Amino acid sequence: MKTVRSAAEHLKDLEPYDPKYLPARIYLNANESPYGMPERARAELLDSLKCEPLHRYPDPLAKRLRTTISERLKVDPEYVVLGNGGDELLFNLCLAYGGSGRSLLTAPPTFSVYHTDAKLTHTAVVEIDRATGVNSEGALDYSVDEEAILKSVSSGSVDIVMLTSPNNPTGDCLTLDFISKVLDATDAVVLIDHAYIEFASPAYDATALLAKHANLAILRTFSKAYGLAGLRIGYLVASTEITRELCKVRQPYSVDALAALAALAALAQEEEVECMVKRIVLERVRVAQALGPLGLGLPVAPSEANYLLFKVPGAHEIWQRLYEDYGILVRDLSKVPGLDDCLRVSIGRPEENDEFLQALGEL
Ligand code: PMP
Repeated sequence: MKTVRSAAEHLKDLEPYDPKYLPARIYLNANESPYGMPERARAELLDSLKCEPLHRYPDPLAKRLRTTISERLKVDPEYVVLGNGGDELLFNLCLAYGGSGRSLLTAPPTFSVYHTDAKLTHTAVVEIDRATGVNSEGALDYSVDEEAILKSVSSGSVDIVMLTSPNNPTGDCLTLDFISKVLDATDAVVLIDHAYIEFASPAYDATALLAKHANLAILRTFSKAYGLAGLRIGYLVASTEITRELCKVRQPYSVDALAALAALAALAQEEEVECMVKRIVLERVRVAQALGPLGLGLPVAPSEANYLLFKVPGAHEIWQRLYEDYGILVRDLSKVPGLDDCLRVSIGRPEENDEFLQALGEL
């Protein structure tokens, strides 16, 4: 046969997720940790690898890691489901609670994977746009439209709500008061994506709400603060009503033995992780100041995460020159609706941030 029949109809308008990966000298494009996994955790991982039976399938639910996480969060182990990165769990949530005749609410500009997962699972998307303005201090304002979200979920027609706190790429968080109102207004599954919560003020951590709300699901990942993006491991915390359904749709062996061991080793070095997070947060403040009114004079979005969104005239050309002339890769978001002339820069090591600021100043 020289031809192949067409793929499923709903793939027609879908573009593959493109993280715009390019080889660079300085990577400030994917919100990874610039420090990597804690040194002692890496040594421990290599040690435990020596006796890990890699010819056996891994424990499907990664019980040891699941229990360790549940103890840290003070929840039942059955509240925790591990996945091949947070990405897999987002898809699984759509498989379990989406489908034709169902809908998912998001608040763009936000993480584009929610939209793709909805499309792949025949789930309709309800988009409640964020503000796209500048606040009284001259900073970019992308706050969610709380009233419109509450009105939409109260109608009862939404099945999944995906809200990001801190939001990628804008960096802002949702208040717990607002999250509680959403949870009270609907029995839809409300996914709060906490991929970057380690970098935010503890006042934004929604974990304590799990005790009161069966419809809350929280997504966490080892890709960011714990420096394990290359190994693909994340987890979702939710009531057993939700985790039971997720266990039905998950790939049995999506969490490999090495990723589970690395996550355990990283959790055992919590102090070192906290120390790296503190350094990144201090740098975030410094870089924001250098970009903002007292520095380069660019509008910057206040951020609770390990990246900053800023506006610069001719953003696409600036992105290209940063890459081609200086070898510095940041994320070009200027074609995303609501983000004209916006670039996102991940916070790197101090010397990387210096090089980025110097290059941007020259451009
Ligand atoms: N949520 C958000 C908001 C993200 O930015 C990312 C990573 N880009 C993820 C979830 C998924 O992360 P991972 O699959 O690496 O755990």
